[in-house]
Amino acid sequence: MTDTDGTRAVTRRALRDLSAERDPHEGPTLEGPLVDSYGRRIRNMRLSVTDRCNFRCVYCMPAEGLAWLPRADILTYEEIARLTRVAASIGIEQVRLTGGEPLVRRDLPDLVRMLRAVPGLSSLSLTTNGVALSKMARSLAEAGLTRINVSLDSLVRERFAQLTRRDAMEQVMAGLRALEECPTIRPIKINAVAMRGFTEAEVVDFAQFARRTGYIVRWIEFMPLDADQIWREEDILTGAEIRALIEAEFGPLVPVGGGDPSETARRYTFADGVGEVGFINPVSEPFCAQCDRIRLTAEGQLRTCLFAQVETDLRALLRSGASDAEIERALREAVWRKELKHYIGDKRFQRTARSMSMIGG
Ligand code: SAM
Repeated sequence: MTDTDGTRAVTRRALRDLSAERDPHEGPTLEGPLVDSYGRRIRNMRLSVTDRCNFRCVYCMPAEGLAWLPRADILTYEEIARLTRVAASIGIEQVRLTGGEPLVRRDLPDLVRMLRAVPGLSSLSLTTNGVALSKMARSLAEAGLTRINVSLDSLVRERFAQLTRRDAMEQVMAGLRALEECPTIRPIKINAVAMRGFTEAEVVDFAQFARRTGYIVRWIEFMPLDADQIWREEDILTGAEIRALIEAEFGPLVPVGGGDPSETARRYTFADGVGEVGFINPVSEPFCAQCDRIRLTAEGQLRTCLFAQVETDLRALLRSGASDAEIERALREAVWRKELKHYIGDKRFQRTARSMSMIGG
């Protein structure tokens, strides 16, 4: 799929494939695991710890930044830990810390330590731009972090600076080297946003990088979540197109099977078994039918879809003296109403007022 019309055809086809019947019951059951009205079991919670970021990636934030939330509006670590305990008691198994840039929040390892103590969590991970990792990787590992995704869109200093509006590629590379000294945080995954006209030039270099380092490199399709609203459907570079570029150089990729069914990435290795790459294709191959995720913004708003139009104010509940049972009920009710799908590429699609940095990607 190389042209604009081709991309449109991909999104149309993907949308047709997704339909589901809503459970006819009026509301959630008040016991058992967390499920939505389409029968999807929710296991994964993304927790944004700040809306602030030290990068200004063109696909996410304006050059001048955004109006940051006042500190008092942001959940404290104690509030985040309490919500996580309640969520884990009804089926959340995996937590990912994100932002904004999570490592700009002071003492993040303290939160990692608090969350490690929550019963029922099998995975505690972090999504970061990596710029502070050379200083923090070790304390994060000691606190109990087990997995990490580092965002990296270019391996060329000037191109990196063009995309992130920060000349910081060497710091990210130093951060990755620091992670290599922390064997309890594995695997090391690299995420690059795929944008037509920018990404193609380094696809082969990134594939070589994956083979050389053992990092798992994944490309994620550009989504309409940028604050500047520059996203256009023709800017999407699909996972299939990137895969074709890799295969033209290395020959056919070999699918890696046996992963978690709700895994967002299509995973591949090379014919000689050295190196892994992945494609996260939320636009051309939506995975809404397998979505097991909810998100909590830095100010405690629960979102049941990246593109949600409604949020549940858990901070208000927490700060009004609600019991754990009341918080659990609010979680169950919000999850029950989880959106069927995101509708990108369909006339029903509506942008959300929040950019990715204000949600927690
Ligand atoms: N600051 C951290 C980082 O850079 O990884 C965490 C937050 S960032 C919002 C999380 C992820 O969202 C990053 O991998 C980023 O590349 C991705 N992202 C941001 N805007 C996006 C967009 N419009 N489309 C697709 N991915 C996007």
